[in-house]
Amino acid sequence: MTIDYKGTINLPQTDFAMKADLAKREPAMLAQWEKAARYAEIQKRTAQRPHMFVLHDGPPYANGAIHLGHAVNKILKDIVVKSKLMAGLRSPYVPGWDCHGLPIEVAVEKKVGKVGVKVDAAEFRKLCREYASKQIDLQREDFKRLGVLGEWENPYRTMDFKYEADIIRALAKIVANGHVLRGFKPVHWCFDCGSALAEAEIEYQDKTSPAIDVAYDAIDSVALAAKFGVQPGADDIVAVPIWTTTPWTLPASIAVTLGAELDYVLIEGPARGGKRLLLVVAEALLEKIGKRYNVENAAVLGRVKGAALASLLPSGEGARRADEGTNTERGSTLLQHPFYDRQIPIILGEHVSAEEGTGAVHTAPGHGVEDFAVGQKYGLVDKYTPAELNPLGPNGVYLPGTPIVGGQFIWKANEAIIELLRERGVLLASEKITHSYPHCWRHRTPVVFRATPQWFIGMETAGLRAGALKAIHDDVTWYPGWGEERIAGMIEGRPDWCISRQRTWGVPITLFAHKLTSEPHPRSVELMEQVAQRVEQGGADAWYALDPRELLGDEAEDYTKVTDILDVWFDSGVTHYCVLDQRPNLKRAPGDKVMYLEGSDQHRGWFHSSLLTSVAMHGHAPYDEVLTHGFTVDAQGRKMSKSLGNGIEPQDVMKTYGADILRLWIASADYRNEMALSDEILKRVSDAYRRIRNTARFLLGNLSGFDPAQHLVPVKDSLLLDQWAVQQAYDTQQVVIGAYARYDFPEIVQRVQNFCTNEMGSLYLDITKDRLYTMQENSPARRSAQSAMYRILEALARWLAPILSFTAEEIWQLMPGMDAQMPRAQDAQERRPRQTPTGPRGESVLFETWYEGLDALQGSAEQRKFWSDLLAIRGGAAKLLEGLRNAGSIGAALEADVSIYADPGLIARFSDVADELRFFFINSELDLKPVADRPQLGELVPRISPDAFGDNAHKPTKAAMPVNMAGHDVWVYAQVSADNKCIRCWHYRPDVGTHAEHPEICGRCVENLPGGPGEDRRFF
Ligand SMILES: [Zn+2]
Ligand SMILES: [Zn+2]
Repeated sequence: MTIDYKGTINLPQTDFAMKADLAKREPAMLAQWEKAARYAEIQKRTAQRPHMFVLHDGPPYANGAIHLGHAVNKILKDIVVKSKLMAGLRSPYVPGWDCHGLPIEVAVEKKVGKVGVKVDAAEFRKLCREYASKQIDLQREDFKRLGVLGEWENPYRTMDFKYEADIIRALAKIVANGHVLRGFKPVHWCFDCGSALAEAEIEYQDKTSPAIDVAYDAIDSVALAAKFGVQPGADDIVAVPIWTTTPWTLPASIAVTLGAELDYVLIEGPARGGKRLLLVVAEALLEKIGKRYNVENAAVLGRVKGAALASLLPSGEGARRADEGTNTERGSTLLQHPFYDRQIPIILGEHVSAEEGTGAVHTAPGHGVEDFAVGQKYGLVDKYTPAELNPLGPNGVYLPGTPIVGGQFIWKANEAIIELLRERGVLLASEKITHSYPHCWRHRTPVVFRATPQWFIGMETAGLRAGALKAIHDDVTWYPGWGEERIAGMIEGRPDWCISRQRTWGVPITLFAHKLTSEPHPRSVELMEQVAQRVEQGGADAWYALDPRELLGDEAEDYTKVTDILDVWFDSGVTHYCVLDQRPNLKRAPGDKVMYLEGSDQHRGWFHSSLLTSVAMHGHAPYDEVLTHGFTVDAQGRKMSKSLGNGIEPQDVMKTYGADILRLWIASADYRNEMALSDEILKRVSDAYRRIRNTARFLLGNLSGFDPAQHLVPVKDSLLLDQWAVQQAYDTQQVVIGAYARYDFPEIVQRVQNFCTNEMGSLYLDITKDRLYTMQENSPARRSAQSAMYRILEALARWLAPILSFTAEEIWQLMPGMDAQMPRAQDAQERRPRQTPTGPRGESVLFETWYEGLDALQGSAEQRKFWSDLLAIRGGAAKLLEGLRNAGSIGAALEADVSIYADPGLIARFSDVADELRFFFINSELDLKPVADRPQLGELVPRISPDAFGDNAHKPTKAAMPVNMAGHDVWVYAQVSADNKCIRCWHYRPDVGTHAEHPEICGRCVENLPGGPGEDRRFF
């Protein structure tokens, strides 16, 4: 009669489901966290920690649903925040939103039309505010769903009255420090935006443009030819051809710039109207020009340096020096504008090269930064009216009074101008070229340079550039390191920052400018504070509603209120002041750190604007660490887009897989590069997740009935194998903590996954099954295994917490010891002090710091050698048994008896544990014998290969093979056990059948039955 021993086996038991069901489970957990005010509770519990790490949120723009890029960004931030909590720091996270700016204006315009049509500016701003609020609510729900923990109920919003007031205060500080200037300068301008654009709002795309050569005829042809030592005929025309891809800038042309050191030659060009035409061109470009003008191999009539041809000297400082060594007769080389009644001087500029064109650059200071600089150097900018320098209106149409082209849109005017040049005979060549050209990043339309009166933060005015560069190198750690040179390069090369915009929805530049000089009021800083106080009460509208007399009294007559608003990059660029410096819980003490973490495009965006404002205000960087991540692409590395149909929305991933899968993908993808996502990748990540989950489940299952308060065995009193397992967890934890500290998240995922699969799955969990299931419930050896598993789970839940936020909490909830007075890490306490007070387990893993109960007692070199040798032999045995299994000789490894023949050194090392080695190898019998005694191989299969076992009719019952171990002579032998199988533990043992009352089980199992003496196990 068979006795049922099922009730005597301790099978694992847990509520931790095999099926994750994250899409359902996570929202329920979120609701629970919300109810428990989890974020606030963490802040409360960590308030006494000595140091703080602030992950300062770069504000997403409050418009539209969140996409995958948002999810990547927010989850990376959340991983950092939670890892800092684990590391024992205070780690508050205040999310924010960028609320002002054009996209919201455009969205509101679609509903109510432009300002001044159906609604006035104040009403329009109110609608913008309402719109932004709604967008924030929508985005906030999705961000929370990702498992991102933060001060969601009290975020910062750049449109909050207090924030708007603080923007004004930040600007006042920058004014006070002398960085703000007003200037008439060319800035990038989008006709669709109707506004100046920041550098960060420009992107380069190919554009087809006309490329034309235009002759600027000499006023005095004899004088110009004389420079080359040539005497022209009476009817000869002498001209300087220019080459341009922007014919529309010709109405603003006021000079021709040559390179002082370039060689220019006089050649005979194509005749015009029967008259001889002599042309001044750069010698280096002679061949190309000859082809374009159909005058190949033109004879060179004379040659001079560009410096000899200048009609003017620079005004001011450089003038005297430039004068030396030249014998220029000023005025003698003036040129005729190709269609206006305007005399054009030849000037010299360093930006002129002989790489393309003619070596002569038509110069329109209103439409180019270099042109503006050289025009200013020669005093030309002041000689012309603003409308002459920039005849373009904000919509791209020439101002009504502009001769010839007034009222035309510039791209259309291009053709008209070319036609006009042709009629006048001054068009030497015309073609179309495709070149890289700046476009508006929103409208994807080409932008132009347009000189308008604007407000600037000067890069040189008060040493901002030098200060910013110093801060980049001295104040900040950049992740990855190349960020440092990238942003430094951008700061080195950038022009002054144009901070004014001619729009409605934003924070006004609250300056009073003098009606005659345009200079800001001398008491501007003080006045701005008064304005800020009003804005704090009534928002930005308080400025527009303000009667200047209230602040200026009689002086108001002489001043105008500036109505431009600030570039939105300024709004977000001063979060360090408006958020970090204002919120009491974010006030930093020495030693505290601030990190900015955004996509790698922010080197020219938020990192950049934040750096400039912080240096301008305080002289140092706003951050200690900056981390950038790449963008999301599909599996083929293509950008995700609607038209390609390869986009993946985070909302869909959460519905199908759950946020933890998304989080695991983000942690495992290398954020330093582009991050690829596809359905297939998601499936792979799900598999990886399952391995981790199954490990946790096995550990939890075997902790059923374990009460750490009563049962926890100190590591030093544990079985050898359990000490080894704890050592493995300790080693893993060292790697994990180190990788979190340097933000190497893929390393963490990899290491934890390997730990779960190899050290746990393939070894420890497999080996300990026998002990856990078959030994008496409360036996010391079983409690020892449970104690190790308990410690490992304590550690594992913490390693996972920053990444698998939901799963880690789910594990935490189901771990034993929640309510007990738990002497956690009681033995560890003797060795090192805990960072946080010991107490009962709180309801969140995030109340904890890295686990300190992993005593490393198997970490000496000798011990490591012991284990690696043992594992090598075990590996050899596994291979051998695999061969027998493939041959059909055995099923489970327990069906075999194994002998290990080893050299005396190894035998001596393992002799203490020899009696229990069979449990480590999971064999029914295992002997350790001297290699000298090993049987001859005659009757054995010497080497395992599929061929050796190919014949099923002759299933071998024995097999042997050498173990490949340097410095040792080791063989493993195996034979199919001749003993009977114990129905309780499944081992094949000679004593099965020797016990009268329990004929079907082994002697060990008899001992392990309830009421029995219990088995004595010491090592494995
Ligand atoms: Zn635009
Ligand atoms: Zn048994």
